[in-house]
Amino acid sequence: MRAYTTAHLSFSLPEGHPFPLYKYGGVAEALKGLLPILPAPEVPREALYLAHEGEYLAKLFTQGLTREESLRLGLPFSQALLQRALHAAGGTLRAAEDALEEGLGLNLAGGTHHAFPGRAEGYSLFNDVAVAIHWLRAKRGFGGRVLVVDLDAHQGNGTAVFFQNDPLVFTLSLHGERNYPLKKERSDLDVGLPDGVGDEAYLSALEAALEVAQDFRPGLVFYNAGVDVLKGDRFGRLALSPEGVRRRDLAVFRFVKGLGVPLVVVMGGGYNRDPALTVAAHAETYRLALSSLA
Ligand SMILES: [Zn+2]
Repeated sequence: MRAYTTAHLSFSLPEGHPFPLYKYGGVAEALKGLLPILPAPEVPREALYLAHEGEYLAKLFTQGLTREESLRLGLPFSQALLQRALHAAGGTLRAAEDALEEGLGLNLAGGTHHAFPGRAEGYSLFNDVAVAIHWLRAKRGFGGRVLVVDLDAHQGNGTAVFFQNDPLVFTLSLHGERNYPLKKERSDLDVGLPDGVGDEAYLSALEAALEVAQDFRPGLVFYNAGVDVLKGDRFGRLALSPEGVRRRDLAVFRFVKGLGVPLVVVMGGGYNRDPALTVAAHAETYRLALSSLA
């Protein structure tokens, strides 16, 4: 068992920008000693081309993003930003291969679920989960059903679009109904929660959603474990306690254990006003994954 990190890769942000670059190093540091933590490899270009539109990629690699596209992404475009995104996607791809071989794959990055086949948005250049699914099919002979459990506080709109017409992928998104993105896409199962939802209401909505997803009988699960569901998040609008997030993660891990299928965990969002809370919650997700499934 091992995890991948992009902590060694940075990019420049304007003063006061809310993107939580600190958390990648923080989570890797918090998990040190528990398992080997390897630098995420760069994703093969070929893998990106299996999933994303060629025109989008070709333009991204030659001209980068326009100012308008950068605004939609929410991050200033730079070569360093692109490099980091390539490695974040590579970490998910490698974690997905680990999952098929060993049952559990962990990326301490990724979960960039707002990336569409042909465009970047919401801090997401590449849809790492979509890239990994396409890669496993094309290169590892994986032909099974895939369940994406997206519990980030924001809808997995890009992922929903990637797999809208794919009967072998079930996308489940539990998110704040009033959160970004304002225009929601159609996942296989969307659960839109009101602002300020706390532990009990959240967990019962999750149990009901997992029960529906169970009927899909997946052979592989991806879990976007965003912790922007925590109370005090700058963007999440929900109000889970740290204990509520633990119970959420345990519910997912119990569910996957019951299915007896491999699991890939990706990080997702987390922008708490208290950075230490974000780091602690993300780290706890990976600890619980290890103790529940490794
Ligand atoms: Zn989010």
